[in-house]
Amino acid sequence: MMKNKKIALFFFFTLFMFTHISTASSMSPTDELVDPITLGPHYDVFRDTSKKVSFEEILSGTYKHHFIASDQQYPFFWHTNDTIWLHLSIDAILGDKKGTYWLEVTDKLDSIEMFLVKSDGSYDVQKRGIANLGEQSIPSRSNLFQIQSPTIHEIYIKLDGALPLSLTSYLFTEVSFTNKISEYKFLTGIFYGFLSALLIYNLFLYFSLKDKAYFYYVLYMLSFIFYQATLNSLDIELLGSLLPKAFFIKSLTISGNLLLLFMLLFCNQFLELKKYLPPFHKIGKLLFWITICSLIASFIVPDVSITNNFTTSFAVVVFIFLWLSGILVLIKGHKMARYYIIGWTVLLGSIIVQALAFLSVIPFHPRIFEEAPAIGAIFESIFLSLALGDKINIIKKEHQVMQETLNDTLEQKVQERTQELELAKHKLEALANTDRLTQIPNRVRLDYVLEKEFEQAKGNGTPLSIILLDIDYFKAVNDEFGHQVGDMVLKSAAELLKNNVHMKQIVGRWGGEEFLVICPNTPLMDAVQLSEELRHQLEQHSFPVVQRKTSSFGVTSFVIGDTIHSLLSRCDKALYQAKHHGRNRVEFILDDTCLETNKEAPTLS
Ligand code: GH3
Ligand code: MG
Ligand code: MG
Repeated sequence: MMKNKKIALFFFFTLFMFTHISTASSMSPTDELVDPITLGPHYDVFRDTSKKVSFEEILSGTYKHHFIASDQQYPFFWHTNDTIWLHLSIDAILGDKKGTYWLEVTDKLDSIEMFLVKSDGSYDVQKRGIANLGEQSIPSRSNLFQIQSPTIHEIYIKLDGALPLSLTSYLFTEVSFTNKISEYKFLTGIFYGFLSALLIYNLFLYFSLKDKAYFYYVLYMLSFIFYQATLNSLDIELLGSLLPKAFFIKSLTISGNLLLLFMLLFCNQFLELKKYLPPFHKIGKLLFWITICSLIASFIVPDVSITNNFTTSFAVVVFIFLWLSGILVLIKGHKMARYYIIGWTVLLGSIIVQALAFLSVIPFHPRIFEEAPAIGAIFESIFLSLALGDKINIIKKEHQVMQETLNDTLEQKVQERTQELELAKHKLEALANTDRLTQIPNRVRLDYVLEKEFEQAKGNGTPLSIILLDIDYFKAVNDEFGHQVGDMVLKSAAELLKNNVHMKQIVGRWGGEEFLVICPNTPLMDAVQLSEELRHQLEQHSFPVVQRKTSSFGVTSFVIGDTIHSLLSRCDKALYQAKHHGRNRVEFILDDTCLETNKEAPTLS
């Protein structure tokens, strides 16, 4: 975008220079001998509809009364089958300002013959136009005639041909003519240099960005340069001797059609009509094919007035279509169309000015005719170039927003997934730590908690007690009532144990019909008391099917020098003692030294 702005500034500067120099030249001193004389108002015009009148008849004065004074600055006849005769009195224009003059006719004409009548009634003929290429010694886009004013008294001009007939003509002194030629060369250099710079700049952009819109823009610029060259007869100046004459008659229509073709392609690509405006895409396609047909026709149809008239009116349709497409795409909210519309509005405005001049609504003036669309087109080219840059910028921004939204959603998704995983992990952990039958902590969980509490007790010296309990004669339940009843009894016992231990205590299934209660921060005798309570509860509990069932308890506490293994095995021994001493009772072992004095150890039941 920055680059674009700089280039635009440069172009605007060039344009300013261009217009400034143009106006400066037209404001130079008004000395008629230095300044060119615009010949338009000096002409008398005769339209020969029969096309049969000869110069001898004209010279004899037979048609004298048919000549009517022109009120036009620049006589203009469009396509006509008539022969146009113009008369100019050199005596009346120059009086006694004798010398050598140049008469320039800038229009692209098929055939222009000039009869230079001397005082003695004799005359010279100078022939110009496409039909007489090669007759002009000075290479120029204009038709040039040399006039020796002391001998020449009056001039007759005969216009003929297929091209639109108009006469933009000036009379120059030798000096002003030299000035005009150098000014013209300078302006032509700036104009085409500017267009070429724009073309090359966008060609490079196409190579680096690979966006087809740039490619069509380059083609559009190429066709525009070609069109301007044919409009200014530059094709004749440069290629006059190389190409057949028929080409120069048709070149304006050919270049005009090419211009429309690439305008349509560019617009379709740039505005992405297929995506944003499908009905217009279809119309655009239709216009494209009509242009192709019109282009082919301009090569093969012999009557150039038909193809020229068609192309001129068809161009109006295409321009309106292109302008309207931009407006609608913008209305649909696609900001990229804004510079595009400015460009087209400027061009359309300048073309409307030209059309009004054509239709004689405003006076026909070569500056308006040639320069208004040219300047309009330069502005349009700049704005289209800006539009391309602007579009890239908009796409970049949209991309950024999209990326950010994508990142946000991605982050959200990751968060959701993490939460899900966390949940699944918890579920899995719970599953891994829970006994499937009784739904209380399993051996894995008990091992983990025991290790933790053991380390705690060992580090802090807080008391830690454990209770191992085993259902008495459980095998008999299975044997007598079946395994399922055994399961029900186990579940019932687990439920009871879970509901009767304290919050800080943890009861789990140690294996088979054995349960372990870990009692952190609990002295041995408190654990023994809890065991006694549990034993009592179990004894009183009404188990499914079997009704009564008792359990035996082994209790012990952590002592210094203990390992988990020694702690557990001591508890196991206490349980064994409980069984050994008749079951349905609680036995505890204080520490390993008590093993021998087991019988002296206090018992509760
Ligand atoms: P004691 O009073 O000496 O403990 O006698 P007991 O029958 O309870 O002891 P024993 O070790 O001989 O039998 C334990 C029985 O527990 C053996 C086994 O079939 C049963 N058992 C272990 N786990 C389960 C279980 O998950 N479900 C059922 N239904 N029975 C089980
Ligand atoms: Mg057992
Ligand atoms: Mg048992």
